[in-house]
Amino acid sequence: MATCKEIHRLVSEGLDRDLSVIERTKMRLHLLICDACTNFSGQMQLIRKAMHKMAQLDEPDATPDPESDRARGPERR
Ligand SMILES: [Zn+2]
Repeated sequence: MATCKEIHRLVSEGLDRDLSVIERTKMRLHLLICDACTNFSGQMQLIRKAMHKMAQLDEPDATPDPESDRARGPERR
């Protein structure tokens, strides 16, 4: 069974890259039984969404495409 620490790492990494099927399954299974990590995951996704929104306001021309955003990386100024 994955530890909370491992799941926190997977949640964080999952925002920046695609997790493997194994990693995603591990994370989902853990989230089913762990409230702390479910909350953590939700908060990370909220922060990510807020940052994405801010980036869009900052750059009106930017396409809201998470795939291309991932390819370019967060630093593109
Ligand atoms: Zn946990």
